[in-house]
Amino acid sequence: MLADIHANLTALEAVLRDLESRGGVDEIWCLGDVVGYGPDPRQCISLVQQYCSCCIAGNHDWAAAGLMDTSGFNQAAAAAAQWTRRQLNSSETGYLAGLPQTLERDKFTLAHGSPRYPLWEYILSLREARANFPFFHTPFCLIGHSHIPLFFRMEGNPGSQEGSSDTDDTGVFQQELYAGCQIDLGERRAIINPGGVGQPRDNDPRASYGLIDSGAGTFTLLRLSYDIPDVQARMAAAGLPGRLIERLAYGW
Ligand code: ZN
Repeated sequence: MLADIHANLTALEAVLRDLESRGGVDEIWCLGDVVGYGPDPRQCISLVQQYCSCCIAGNHDWAAAGLMDTSGFNQAAAAAAQWTRRQLNSSETGYLAGLPQTLERDKFTLAHGSPRYPLWEYILSLREARANFPFFHTPFCLIGHSHIPLFFRMEGNPGSQEGSSDTDDTGVFQQELYAGCQIDLGERRAIINPGGVGQPRDNDPRASYGLIDSGAGTFTLLRLSYDIPDVQARMAAAGLPGRLIERLAYGW
């Protein structure tokens, strides 16, 4: 699945090519924020429409569609959102405005930020993860929004991972996900963030995305290098804020 493409066509094309070279996948799910920050909103919407079997709304999609004002955004994000809105035609904004806030697919609930507050909440800690387990009914929930690959699992018995500082006393376990790391989904409920395709924020600038093997019951985190200077040049030509251009090279 793909999250937080953020109008980065070069990263998205690299990921689609990688999936193809792995022999293709049955379905590609998009977890929102197709646009915002990056220089290629129209091309990214078109590829998502073409390749993704489903897509949910992110806060930047709503901002570009005019469904949300940008007062909650920082200055650079707001400037990029306004620039994005000016690039899109009415059918593109209509597509973004029509994206659902959450979806269920097989054993998975899809929500951009969190199942509790799909457009806004970040799940970055055990506390936020624990609060969100009651808000979805499938075994697993896939999220984006933070652009940080993370895994949270409800352990059966609180304290069952005794000695692990990553499990809290109500039995929620947290793990950061690195390139190539594979999780056995198992029977226990989990919340998974595959990181961001177009603007990773875990200090690894490579595009981040996830692969689910439903037969084997596994989730694998993948990272892929792409031509970052090429994207940065298009952002500069578009007059997008310098801070957004620089951060791509650092992955934050
Ligand atoms: Zn995002």
